[in-house]
Amino acid sequence: MVFFHLILTDDCNLCCSYCRGRVLAGEVAWTFGMDPGIDWDLPSDLSFDLQDLYSFLSKDPSACLTFYGGEPLLRVPLIREIMDGAPVERFMIQTNGVLLSRLPAPYRNRFETILVSLDGTEDLTDRHRGQGTYRRVMENVRQLVRGGFSGELIARMTVGEDTDINEAVWALAENPCYSFRSIHWQLDADFAGNAGMRTFSKWTRESYNPGIRSLVRDWVACMESGEGVRRWYPFLQPMQDLLEGRSSPLRCGSGHANYTVMTDGHIGPCPVMVGMRDYYVGHIATAEPLGLPRVSVDSGCSKCSLLGFCGGRCLYAQVTRPWPGTMKKAICQTVQNLHDCLVEALPRVKECIRKGLIEEGDFSHTRYNGCEIIP
Ligand code: SF4
Ligand code: SF4
Repeated sequence: MVFFHLILTDDCNLCCSYCRGRVLAGEVAWTFGMDPGIDWDLPSDLSFDLQDLYSFLSKDPSACLTFYGGEPLLRVPLIREIMDGAPVERFMIQTNGVLLSRLPAPYRNRFETILVSLDGTEDLTDRHRGQGTYRRVMENVRQLVRGGFSGELIARMTVGEDTDINEAVWALAENPCYSFRSIHWQLDADFAGNAGMRTFSKWTRESYNPGIRSLVRDWVACMESGEGVRRWYPFLQPMQDLLEGRSSPLRCGSGHANYTVMTDGHIGPCPVMVGMRDYYVGHIATAEPLGLPRVSVDSGCSKCSLLGFCGGRCLYAQVTRPWPGTMKKAICQTVQNLHDCLVEALPRVKECIRKGLIEEGDFSHTRYNGCEIIP
């Protein structure tokens, strides 16, 4: 089974500080010192024959299609057309959530997974995503649930120097409007030219890493108290693998289990590697979904003792190498810290299983569902 992100449009209705807001502020530049072979002529909207997409997808009977953007819900008629015509049973969507109510309930309720962007508290979300965003998204989440959605709803946070990770995760987990059981977070760490403006290393050392230690303790305490296994993805999948004693390839799946269909029908390994032609693996008109080549990059990760746990963190970063030395060290220390916290928690988790408080099956989840896992 292969997972495909489908980029519907590059348009977005928000201007979040770690995305378009940064571009507008001129903070991002191609300063990587390499040529990723960018296709600057890539259309901004999906512009290929949908029959080619359907014929491509029909060759993988269990393919999963995830709508992606920009903001995919700016193209509701296209989403409906594809959900009516594509020969796949499993759909997912990654959305900022502001326009979720535009899609009628019969379509919303067909999603296996909806990933909705929220950064924790109302204040934090609105500071980065725009005033009033949090309330609009929460209202849509309430409508979604009232409308009968029974799939997995994942709150997807972007975290940076003004995030108290402990407070932010608990704000979503114990939210009075909707208590998110599934939460994922990703570090705002693609430093492409703005490293000098950041206090990232200090923040990871003094706030984020200690916060993760505390959260892991809370997470296991929930199991011990009989609340079960909260689906906090950066903990959930690595702990499942620790329990089963197995290592993992790149945990987001990019380039081996997860690919992205660009707006012109070319297939790349990752939804962020838009237009990076050097890493394309084919085109929907001619490629075989079950025979796509694996994409890998020769990076320092191959020599790292954490590789089996980390998976290499991010293919895009392995290609672009956006981090100055101290920040690369800080990033990898977050992985080391996560690893150490989970390994330390492993005996308590095993004890919970032995006592029958939880089961190993409680850690099961759909891999490659859009959660990158390693933040
Ligand atoms: S910890 Fe750092 S060097 Fe090691 S595998 Fe992960 S990203 Fe690569
Ligand atoms: S972690 Fe990196 S390679 Fe994976 S989806 Fe995100 S940007 Fe792409």
